[in-house]
Amino acid sequence: MCRVRVAVVPRSFRLTFALLGFVPAFAFAQITAEAASAQTAPEERTAQELERVREEPPALREFLLRMPKGADLHYHLDGAVYAETFIRAGAEDGLCVDQTAKAFTKSQPVDAGAEPQPVCEAGDVPAADVPKNQHLYDALVDSFSMRGFVPSEGVIGHDHFFATFAKFGGTDPRHTGDFLDEVATRAAAQNEQYLELMETPTWNRLNTITKDVAWREDLSALREELLAKGLAGDVPAARAFWDEAESVRRQRERCGKAAEAPACKVAARYIYQVFRNNPKQLVFAQALLGFELAAADPRVVAINFVGAEDDYISMADYAAQMRMVGFLRGLYPKVHVSLHAGELAPGLVPPEGLCCHIRLAVEDARSERIGHGVDVMYEDRPYELLKEMAAKHVLVEINLTSNDDILGISGKDHPFPLYQKFGVPVALSTDDEGVSRIDLTHEYVRAVQTYDLIYADLKQMVRNSLEYSFLAGASLWQEPDVFARVVSECRSDVPGADKPSSPCMAFLNSNQKAEQQWELERRFHVFEANH
Ligand SMILES: [Zn+2]
Repeated sequence: MCRVRVAVVPRSFRLTFALLGFVPAFAFAQITAEAASAQTAPEERTAQELERVREEPPALREFLLRMPKGADLHYHLDGAVYAETFIRAGAEDGLCVDQTAKAFTKSQPVDAGAEPQPVCEAGDVPAADVPKNQHLYDALVDSFSMRGFVPSEGVIGHDHFFATFAKFGGTDPRHTGDFLDEVATRAAAQNEQYLELMETPTWNRLNTITKDVAWREDLSALREELLAKGLAGDVPAARAFWDEAESVRRQRERCGKAAEAPACKVAARYIYQVFRNNPKQLVFAQALLGFELAAADPRVVAINFVGAEDDYISMADYAAQMRMVGFLRGLYPKVHVSLHAGELAPGLVPPEGLCCHIRLAVEDARSERIGHGVDVMYEDRPYELLKEMAAKHVLVEINLTSNDDILGISGKDHPFPLYQKFGVPVALSTDDEGVSRIDLTHEYVRAVQTYDLIYADLKQMVRNSLEYSFLAGASLWQEPDVFARVVSECRSDVPGADKPSSPCMAFLNSNQKAEQQWELERRFHVFEANH
């Protein structure tokens, strides 16, 4: 079937067919006639409301803010926290601020009576004093984010973006629960219901464990050696890290108590981040720890590789790193994998460097999802790759603002419409909403404005975000990418109904993914009934 869509067929044409309840295959690949015929009057009115507000950005924002958005699947917890929060946390931790580098520095706390005061290096100031100096406060927010960033000689957006993490780093892990509360609260306010948060609990022992371990191609033997040295001993500490953070989050949100915060309804799972710009034996050790942790703790659903993909080590070791993931996937088949791949652009690396990161992630690492995928058309045999990704149902996590900030790729230069055209499932995500000073609604606004998307496009992406989530259990839907028929247990029910039939209820209770998908359909009913 020809899968031509967004880039080729005008919006007005697609919209007319969508509203008539008839969507030709050549116009809109992923909406079937069956799904279209099931369109309800409220859904049509909602689609028309989007058309009415399309040219009024503030009204478009308000519409998309209220629209159910399912999940944000590409979300670094550290990068999601806003600079203002880090300044507050740094003050509580007694950190100092280097006024030249506009970065946190460690202090030497000394007991000065009842109130311990941080002692800072000459020229540095206590983070607690920053709010009293608005000029420094502003400069620190800019330094910790992309706010006000203008490229200058030797500093491009890519450099400033990645440098922020070291500048606001160093706060105490005890703040993680507050960070979870911040991001869940922001998600709830935008009608999101699920987050997959990338984070790395402390892994200090790995440096010691790998100190005398030499890299070797025999990954099985390398794994045995690392496990024999006690690598899995870090798993309980990582689990305790999440126990503590979740406990603080629940307290902040008063979950389970009277007048609990709306954020309590935002489910979260975690993806263990492996830092790819390290020596091979350390990358392997960290990946192994991630798989061990995910196998032991159902809250940790996957692993991902992070860090600048264009850095020297990442470019030199990329193929070896993909082999590591492929090897470990074979040993831990229940642990999911999503990988940053193709977060590259011409000029950032030599042309040859654009050859194959996405393909290696899909074929060698057998990644279920790809983060970014921006350089896909520069890879070898790109059309074959797009078809392969569609056939294998590999979702691409699309991060429009991040790609603009880091890679300078936006608008027609971005492959988003090509992924849609070839039937590769996509979902919008934020990547680092605190660093970019955005939220998920912002990304929907940007996508609608840039790619002329209609309501059916948005609904497809939102449904994708849960279909391709790593939540446990089966999907509510019979086929991936075609959200037309629910599983037989719920066949007699209206998806999202308040009172499912008993076989359907039993199915939902034993499948977390389907349960969230049911909730999403309920939210669509509520949203569309208001138009
Ligand atoms: Zn990312």
